[in-house]
Amino acid sequence: MKREVPCPRCGARHEWSDNPWRPFCSERCKVIDLGGWLSEENAIPGEAAEISGADAPKH
Ligand SMILES: [Zn+2]
Repeated sequence: MKREVPCPRCGARHEWSDNPWRPFCSERCKVIDLGGWLSEENAIPGEAAEISGADAPKH
């Protein structure tokens, strides 16, 4: 009996019992998810690139 679950990362359905990367569908999704929160944790607040002068007149 298969038990399919959706990957929390990409939503792809995968077989739970036959998946070493669960709850993700693959190593890729697991790494991406892990890297995501890691980079968020180590995020260095840089200069905010604000774009001004949006109303520049056209020629
Ligand atoms: Zn996935």
